[in-house]
Amino acid sequence: MPTRIPALFVSHGAPSILLDESPTRSFLQQLGRTVGRPKGIVCISAHWGTAAPQVTLHPQPATLYDFGGFPEELYQRTYPAPGDPTLAQQVLTLLRADGVPAEPNPSRGLDHGVWVPLMLSYPAADVPVVQLSVQPDAGPEQHLAIGRALRSLPDEGILILASGAATHNLRDFSRYPLLSPPVPYAREFADWLKDAVLQGRTDELLQYRQRAPHARLNHPTPEHFLPLFVALGAGGAGRILHDAYTYGVLSMAAFAWQ
Ligand code: ZN
Repeated sequence: MPTRIPALFVSHGAPSILLDESPTRSFLQQLGRTVGRPKGIVCISAHWGTAAPQVTLHPQPATLYDFGGFPEELYQRTYPAPGDPTLAQQVLTLLRADGVPAEPNPSRGLDHGVWVPLMLSYPAADVPVVQLSVQPDAGPEQHLAIGRALRSLPDEGILILASGAATHNLRDFSRYPLLSPPVPYAREFADWLKDAVLQGRTDELLQYRQRAPHARLNHPTPEHFLPLFVALGAGGAGRILHDAYTYGVLSMAAFAWQ
């Protein structure tokens, strides 16, 4: 019987994480070896928002350059991991069985919330990847339900990778250099988050907008935080895999639930 693998949440940071030395780049470069080679990856990224969940069906998804203002060489990178239409259909079946309406998307490629961390963690690009969209207008409960619907996949050696940001205030992003110490409002939110994950306080996490310090300042829009609830719903006990900051305002915290 294969061992259950963890469901992960990673903070993907700026795409230039691929170019610039940082503790988080080193962490992501180790992550694939830490987790091992999954049979497939289901990745929910902040950068694909839809009204209802969609799942990529393309057997060879394109690399999407859905960012602007970064060095030209990032637009030359490709992540040629295959898709997995069979796994995509399994995801659709599991979601629908739990009453989550979901649709296939036959043409969509992989956005940078998917391929940037995977390029560091699984650089060979030989593990099939299926992407799942986030619903910015739905709450944490729906994303927890999506994760719960998929909770059997880690038992089958499928990695559920949620890719977003533990804190994500881009208004202040350009004010600080890459390796600045954290601003207090980001650190206070991230400290609250780490405690809540470690102590399994799911109800409080679901109410983060009311309960967490500076929630709206750290997540003026929710799309980078909502993927966390998918990994939370899919996994078991939570632990902290990585704890660092970039640009003073971005907590790069990563979590595993197993
Ligand atoms: Zn992002």
